[in-house]
Amino acid sequence: MGRNDKGNVGFIGIGTMGREMARNLLRTGFDVHAFDLDKAALAAIAKDGAISTRDPADAARDADVVITMLPDTPHVEAVIYGERGLLKSPPPGGLIIDMSTISPVAVRRIHADLKQAGLSFIDAPVSGGPQGAKNGALSIMAGGEADAFAKAEPFFQAMGTTITHVGPSGAGQTVKLCNQLICGINIQAICEALALGRASGVDLHLLRRVLLGSSAASWMLDKLGSSMIEGDVSAGFRIDLMLKDLRLVQEHAQELNVPLPGTALVTSQYVDARAHGEGTNGNQALFRVYDRMANQVTG
Ligand code: NAD
Repeated sequence: MGRNDKGNVGFIGIGTMGREMARNLLRTGFDVHAFDLDKAALAAIAKDGAISTRDPADAARDADVVITMLPDTPHVEAVIYGERGLLKSPPPGGLIIDMSTISPVAVRRIHADLKQAGLSFIDAPVSGGPQGAKNGALSIMAGGEADAFAKAEPFFQAMGTTITHVGPSGAGQTVKLCNQLICGINIQAICEALALGRASGVDLHLLRRVLLGSSAASWMLDKLGSSMIEGDVSAGFRIDLMLKDLRLVQEHAQELNVPLPGTALVTSQYVDARAHGEGTNGNQALFRVYDRMANQVTG
C-alpha cells in the first residue's frame, strides 16, 4: 500500500479518457501517480491532486496497480517493454491493467511475458465515451485470470458501472471489438437515414426524436445524432481511433477466417473521411462523407 489506506495507482495515458478516469480514482480516495508524454496533460491532472512522474517506472514505483490508457498497441508495448517500462520496473502490487483498445493478439503476448515475470495482466477496454468516463459510468470488459480480476475490481468500481469478467486474456479486447463494429455500422446507418430524410425535406431534429422512440433507437443516435445534424464535428471519439479499432476488428476476423463484409464497407467510408482531413474530428463527421456523396458541400 502507498501513502493512504485505499491504495496507490500508477496511471499512464492522461488523454481524453484517462484524464477523467484518473480523476474518478482520485475522487474515490486512491493516490494517483500519473505519467504521460504530454507535459500539459500531466500539469492538468496534478491540479486535481495527482502526483506527476517522469516515466512508467517512476509511476509504478509504489503502486498496487498500474493502469494504462493509451492510443494503440505500439504505445502500450512501449510502456511495457521499454527501457523504463513495466516489465523491467513492475509495480510492487504486481498487477498491470491495460484499458486501451488494442490488438487481442498483442494482449495475449504481453500477458504471457508478464506472467513469466510473476506479474498479473488484465485487458479491460471500456465503452461509454468521455461522458461515461467523466461520470464514472463506463462499461468495462475484462479478460484475464479470475484472481487478478478480483484484485482489479475495486479500481474498476471507481471508473465504471457495468464491470464484467468476460473470459481469459484477450477476451476483453474481443468483446470491445464486437462493440466497435456495431458502433461503426450503426453510425453509418444513422448517416444514411439522415441523408435520406434531408433529401426528402423532413425536419431532421424531429426525425431523430421520433427514431429515438422507435425500433431504430440507439446510443449513437442519442449521443451523436444532434451534432451530425448541426455539423458539429468536435471530437469525443476521433475518426482516427475508430479506424484503428476497425483495423483491429479486421485483423482479428482474418486470423479466425470470419468474413465481415459490413465492417469492410464502413471501414472504407472512414478511410474516405480521414482522406478528407477528418481524422481528428469526432465520429459524427462520418456524415460529411454523405454530404460529399450528395454533393451538398462545396468547400
Ligand atoms: P487520447 O489520444 O486522447 O489519449 C492518449 C494519451 O496517451 C495522450 O495523452 C498521449 O499523450 C498519451 N501517450 C501516448 N503514448 C504514450 C506513451 N508512450 N507514454 C505515455 N503516454 C503516452 O486517447 P483517448 O481518446 O483517451 O483513448 C485512449 C484509448 O481508449 C484508445 O485505445 C481508444 O481507442 C480507447 N477509447 C476511447 C474512447 C473515446 O471516446 N475517446 C472510448 C472508449 C475507448
